[in-house]
Amino acid sequence: MPSGTDPVFALDRTGGLSLSRRMPDDRDAIAIVGGGPAGLAAAEVLGGAGRAVAVYERMPSVARKLLIAGRGGLNITHSEARADFLARYHPHGCLDAAIAAFPPDALRAWCAELGEPTFVGSSGRVFPRSFKASPLLRAWLARLDRLGVRIHTRHRLTALGGTLHFDTPDGPRAIRPPATLLALGGASWPRLGSDGRWVPLLEGLGVAVAPLRPANAGFAVAWSDLFRERFSGAPLKRVALACEGTVVRGEAVITQTGIEGGAIYALSRLLREAIAAGGSARLVVDLRPDLTREALARRLSGARPGDSAATRLRKAAGLAPVAAGLLREAAGAALPADPGALAGLIKAAPITLTASAPIERAISTAGGVRLDALDERSMLRAHPGLFLAGEMLDWEAPTGGYLLQGALAGGRAAAAGMLDWLRETGG
Ligand SMILES: Cc1cc2nc3c(=O)[nH]c(=O)nc-3n(C[C@H](O)[C@H](O)[C@H](O)COP(=O)(O)OP(=O)(O)OC[C@H]3O[C@@H](n4cnc5c(N)ncnc54)[C@H](O)[C@@H]3O)c2cc1C
Repeated sequence: MPSGTDPVFALDRTGGLSLSRRMPDDRDAIAIVGGGPAGLAAAEVLGGAGRAVAVYERMPSVARKLLIAGRGGLNITHSEARADFLARYHPHGCLDAAIAAFPPDALRAWCAELGEPTFVGSSGRVFPRSFKASPLLRAWLARLDRLGVRIHTRHRLTALGGTLHFDTPDGPRAIRPPATLLALGGASWPRLGSDGRWVPLLEGLGVAVAPLRPANAGFAVAWSDLFRERFSGAPLKRVALACEGTVVRGEAVITQTGIEGGAIYALSRLLREAIAAGGSARLVVDLRPDLTREALARRLSGARPGDSAATRLRKAAGLAPVAAGLLREAAGAALPADPGALAGLIKAAPITLTASAPIERAISTAGGVRLDALDERSMLRAHPGLFLAGEMLDWEAPTGGYLLQGALAGGRAAAAGMLDWLRETGG
């Protein structure tokens, strides 16, 4: 590990003269609280501009969520056309300026400079060639160390105003930096560090925070015991899912408690909002999106008269056992005998979703500090010198690399805003 990641509190208090010379207490450094992708990206820009920067992270090491994302191959951005790319973020336009300043191509070049060239997968998603986060993070931390960025782990922010208060294993610590960036993440996977406990701190400053909610999460469905036992864990491949007129093609997975997977995540905002408005959401599953209803009906009418319903679904409609099971769940009672009606059900099997999975199990977080609390420099309008970036802000995006692209670009944009503000105020 680079020396800058050593916990300074231990060195300050117990390390003696030589160590405290090596690790100053960063009283005058710009403070970045939260050592995830957004915070580290900001630290890189500020350090690169020759500023003294200190990162404060509550966990024993930084970027744990980035490392977990690496377990899935680290889908770091997406290669689709810019307009389509930007349209993935909600609310519309929220990250346009940040991504214009650090677009997917720049992110890919940045990875390559860190020794991790990227490639575009068949779905258009972009991954580092190693399919891992750890080599990228190692090279990134080494670069930050060379830039003089100091990382203070085991520092939990407990109060803020002009002064930041931290809990450390050595007791409370207070600093009054010239400018502060909060990049504290959302509330999903809290054991990795981001637990959303910053909400009362910001509300205490009068900052409006939209409730933190699960994004890119699964949903609960009241499956029959038979379906749950037989099919939990089974993938529904090449389906089209629809909610309120939005259709997404992809895959989903049946779980013990409901349904999850990429196509569900892509609809998760709409589904979540429908549940919030009406207590449940109607997901419509097209189990054969590549065939028209008429073509399916023709195939079903051509089935042998003696075939069982299961055989007809398998042979004539080409449905996997899990898809046929889902159809029975959707039908509730017996499957329609009429080929046209059965084809209609295969093309639009309705499933009722009753709740989102808990935020602890979601990939990301919706809600957060309301964007209108910030100016164009990512600074809180009511608190000059206090900047925000990353998942703690009230934007969301589906999986596909958009989250890391948003966090990295947002962190860099906030750092540019800080530099601008410091120049303007003579800081
Ligand atoms: C399982 C999983 C897989 C994922 N895979 C992908 C993927 O492949 N592609 C993609 O684009 N995105 C993926 N994501 C999402 C992505 O990792 C996040 O969107 C991203 O890490 C958000 O960056 P951030 O810096 O805003 O917040 P975080 O990464 O959450 O970092 C915030 C940091 O702040 C620290 N902190 C919080 N509170 C305090 C405090 N009070 N004091 C001090 N420090 C504090 C936390 O410990 C944490 O280190 C995945 C997420 C999960 C959970």
